[in-house]
Amino acid sequence: MRKLALSLLAAFVAMPMFAQAITDGHYKKCLVIGAHPDDPESMSGGTMLALKDMGCEVVSVYFTRGEGGIVGKSGEETAAIRTQEALDACAFMGVRAVFMSQVDGASYVNADAYAEMLELIKKEKPDLVLTHWPIDSHRDHRNCSILVYDAWRRSGYSFDLYYGEVMTGLQTQNFQPDTWVDISKYREAKLEAYLKHVSQNTDGNIEAYHDPMELMRGLEYRCKYAEGYVKQHRGR
Ligand SMILES: [Zn+2]
Repeated sequence: MRKLALSLLAAFVAMPMFAQAITDGHYKKCLVIGAHPDDPESMSGGTMLALKDMGCEVVSVYFTRGEGGIVGKSGEETAAIRTQEALDACAFMGVRAVFMSQVDGASYVNADAYAEMLELIKKEKPDLVLTHWPIDSHRDHRNCSILVYDAWRRSGYSFDLYYGEVMTGLQTQNFQPDTWVDISKYREAKLEAYLKHVSQNTDGNIEAYHDPMELMRGLEYRCKYAEGYVKQHRGR
């Protein structure tokens, strides 16, 4: 019984130490790679702001320009609107935006796509990348995630890779974090960055999905609001 109590105590003490690995101050450059404009902000906005405060360079990468995201508008018109919204969100957060070449709803995984993601990594040289958890109901999220995973391997594990969550339950599935970032201090600013995506604020996604997610992760991490991640381990 005493042994069990000591093991539980050790786990209790160890968890928060590991849990703050993303924001322990040692990362110099972080890419947050999201499938659509608003994914980096909604998945990791608090973490992005926390990293920035620590002097880490943060880049928001958009895999597509969200071409399918406005009902009644063409892909071209929508891409122009959503590109500007992403630029506005990045300007507000003080981070740089990078746009990749894939198209919302028509993303693909092939040799060219693998090459583009690896080129991005080689050019930007991050030591930390945050992207979608690969089990997700949205095909673009899955494709984005698996391309980043491949680039991680092909680059010789040149950065630490963590997966985050978006609209868990509806989109992210089967997700249980092993790493948390306390975003209580940044939550208002995160929301403001998200709200720069004016075209996407029509369906109550924040209230329905992201508020409960951040509260739940906060309960797990014993703070008010948190973002959760799973670290990709190299294995053998
Ligand atoms: Zn998305």
